[in-house]
Amino acid sequence: MQIDTEVAVLGSGPGGYTAAFRAADLGKKTVLIERYPSLGGVCLNVGCIPSKALLHVAKVICEANEIEQCGVKFEKPDINSQQMRTWVEKVVGQLTGGLSALAKQRGVQVVHGHGQFLDAETLSVVQDDKETKVSFRDAIIAAGSRPATLPFLPDDPRIVDSTGALTLSDIPERLLIIGGGIIGLELGTVYHELGSKVSVVEVLDSLIAEADIDLTKPLTKRIQKQYEQILTKTRVVSVSSDKDRLSVEFSSDKGQSTEEFDMILAAVGRTPNGNLINASSAGIQVDNHGFIAVDRQQRTNVDGIFAIGDITGQPMLAHKATHQGKVAAEVIAGMKSGFDTSLIPSVAYTDPEIAWVGLTEKEAKRNGTPYEKGIFPWLASGRALSMSRPEGMTKLLFDPESKRLLGAGIVGVNAGELIAEAALAIEMGSDAADLALTIHPHPTLSETICFAAEAYEGTITDLYLPRKSGRTKR
Ligand code: NAD
Repeated sequence: MQIDTEVAVLGSGPGGYTAAFRAADLGKKTVLIERYPSLGGVCLNVGCIPSKALLHVAKVICEANEIEQCGVKFEKPDINSQQMRTWVEKVVGQLTGGLSALAKQRGVQVVHGHGQFLDAETLSVVQDDKETKVSFRDAIIAAGSRPATLPFLPDDPRIVDSTGALTLSDIPERLLIIGGGIIGLELGTVYHELGSKVSVVEVLDSLIAEADIDLTKPLTKRIQKQYEQILTKTRVVSVSSDKDRLSVEFSSDKGQSTEEFDMILAAVGRTPNGNLINASSAGIQVDNHGFIAVDRQQRTNVDGIFAIGDITGQPMLAHKATHQGKVAAEVIAGMKSGFDTSLIPSVAYTDPEIAWVGLTEKEAKRNGTPYEKGIFPWLASGRALSMSRPEGMTKLLFDPESKRLLGAGIVGVNAGELIAEAALAIEMGSDAADLALTIHPHPTLSETICFAAEAYEGTITDLYLPRKSGRTKR
């Protein structure tokens, strides 16, 4: 079969479907190509959405357990994994089904099959030995990424990646998570609450190493109590399997050791899919890792071919991809759009959550960027205390001269929701006084942003901070 279109979008994850829908809304005849039966890519099918559904279950179990200290005792939960799986599938199905309906409403033609470039104007889409050739004027590559693998892991159904872990085919007694990044720790939260004894092994000296250490500390402290072990500065060097157990060899500066586990989750990063789309036949440059370089308009090195999302580099986040998707579609439609990469919030949906946006202290120290900070410990937040979760902290980083907000980091319950205010504040060029003088509702966790700005300004009354010179007078 042959299809001629104005815009072809390869991949229907958050970046791809957004690009296709925006292009269609801007009047372009658009084809959306997807190799799997449902739209939505990793995020909707085997990533963000199913993991957040399971994290919701984990949160309820955890809260039911912890409420005992407030005088309410629940029975131990009776877990029906099959019913949980069905529920997660329903959530995912609702969203992916919604996407198909949205495509239809816009007249976006969806073609299922594995898409690869034949040349700089044609894609071949193959499904069940049937080929559809899609000729395009412009193409947007949104082919995403896949879990990275460790070469020494044996082929064993008890060794899974994030996709496998989300199927909940087993709740093992002892689970080893290789990789103390966001994926490993989010899934660790789920398996811990479902009853597994969780161990995490991380080669670096801290968990979620890209975040500031004061943000990861409360999480590390909490899971050190909950999990069987957190091994930092430790590397897994080999794994062997027999019919009963998986035997894992660790290496650290303390030496070598071996332990046995019932299941292993490898969460050691993601690999972009740049090498799976025959990019070279269209002349598109793909680097050794599989990334495709783009400019601010999402253009690749080939005229009329754009790329967005994970395949264009770090950070590999759905909300980056969706914004890039809009930029690519708008540039194709002749609009003057561009993508600003400096403000992409990051959220670890762990317990507590960790979120940051803009400048981090690690980055500031690395680059010699001057900054001053305001911190509000949630121990002084009425709302956090009334939820029995005072371990959080809100930190704001300001430009010492202009007092403008440069970055924010939050750890605590709902940090992922709270960080959006800081992102907007940075976008709007807000300074400390803007945040401190904005009346936040009481008692909320959102107040902690206002309080951190007040702490920086020296006007806070909810904490006692020794006087510092230069405090703002109102
Ligand atoms: P990651 O790169 O963030 O973390 C992987 C960790 O594994 C690293 O800290 C690394 O040092 C460690 N590691 C690698 N090899 C090891 C070994 N042999 N032994 C021990 N440790 C080892 O990767 P991830 O957590 O898999 O996440 C992948 C991507 O997906 C990230 O880009 C992330 O941004 C994205 N993601 C985001 C979210 C979210 O926004 N909530 C959720 C899931 C995934």
